[in-house]
Amino acid sequence: MKTQDYISREEAYLAYNYHPLPVVLNKAEGVWVWDVEGNKYLDFLSAYSAVSAGHVNPRLKKALVDQLETLDVPSRAFYTDKLGLFAEKLCKVTGMDKMLPMNTGAEAVETAIKAARRWGYMHKNIAKDQAKILVSSGNFHGRTTTIVGFSSDKEYKENFGPFDGGFIETPYGDIAAFEKLAADPNVCAYITEPMQGEAGIIIPPKGWLTGIQKICRKYNVLFICDEIQSGMGRTGKDFAFQHEIDKPDGLILGKALGGGIYPVSAFLARSDVMEVFNPGSHGSTFGGNPLAAAIGIEALDIMKDEKLTERSAEHGAYIMDELAKIDTALITEIRGAGLWIGIDIDPKIASARAVCEELKLRGLLCKETHETVVRLAPPLTISKDDIDWALGHIREVITLMEQKAAA
Ligand SMILES: *Cc1c(COP(=O)(O)O)cnc(C)c1O
Repeated sequence: MKTQDYISREEAYLAYNYHPLPVVLNKAEGVWVWDVEGNKYLDFLSAYSAVSAGHVNPRLKKALVDQLETLDVPSRAFYTDKLGLFAEKLCKVTGMDKMLPMNTGAEAVETAIKAARRWGYMHKNIAKDQAKILVSSGNFHGRTTTIVGFSSDKEYKENFGPFDGGFIETPYGDIAAFEKLAADPNVCAYITEPMQGEAGIIIPPKGWLTGIQKICRKYNVLFICDEIQSGMGRTGKDFAFQHEIDKPDGLILGKALGGGIYPVSAFLARSDVMEVFNPGSHGSTFGGNPLAAAIGIEALDIMKDEKLTERSAEHGAYIMDELAKIDTALITEIRGAGLWIGIDIDPKIASARAVCEELKLRGLLCKETHETVVRLAPPLTISKDDIDWALGHIREVITLMEQKAAA
């Protein structure tokens, strides 16, 4: 079968909820992936930052296989030998007191919402069913009906209502606007990405995290960071909140926590927040199973041993510098932190999609976010040589796009 045959089969039998680049992959190793025709590509998306430790990382593979040969999934009706260690490691590296394991990111966000509301009723004496949660403009927290209900993106929510309410949007990065809303005594929490991924790699102004935390403390509002995409070294710190604050009150992790090979997510929090849960109040059949725990432990160890965070900071700064040197009207802005970079493309010259399609022809896989942003998020294991190779192709495509627009 050829590329088009695989694509046709997917189109025949799959819901059309994704618009993939026309490449059919069947192999991966490290920062490279291969298509069914034998072409090799550098992966500059890393499964939306899940594959931070590189594809088929040998240590993750071993952790998975070893675990699979001993104990698979007994459910949390019983204790197991790995989950406590995973939780201990995760609490130590994040500074949180306790964790609750789930599988996908959206489930961990749902867990945070439940925790925040219960905490509001139990600790802030909010009247029954009156709890409000503040969320950011441009937020992305996943795809459940509750979560898309407070998305600012029409595409994510259209015709999926009715939505249950209880969420108030505050402009991202704006401390003054936030304070007005946080003063409402029915507000129990603010859930936000410390840096926004799907919105197009949006980095808030300096001092914003510190300012938000101060206001949250003043009004007894929980400050909960969704670091499903920004965590695990992606932004050049182990967790993005560490760019400014010691720790938030709650933290949501996913994606790279499972090494990109298995869905592992978690909600972490201070003890008084986590203690709102009691047996029966929340759960997950697969959450925290031994495979997930073994992989999570290994993903955390790899982040430390292979200095993924330091590599992210160093290589990210290098790419930003190199991109800034390019003299072009095609790029209107470059934003980023660590190996998490958004390039704004002038829509009058080209679409971000067209740029990604040209890069793909040269062996570089990137994905556009919205119509105008090209996101660069390679595995954090990437070498400088591979980065230079990618930068060469990026420069080439920029020139080509300008020539096309001029013609
Ligand atoms: C990807 C993502 C999610 C959702 O995670 P899923 O595993 O796809 O459910 C939530 N929040 C952020 C910030 C994300 O990037």
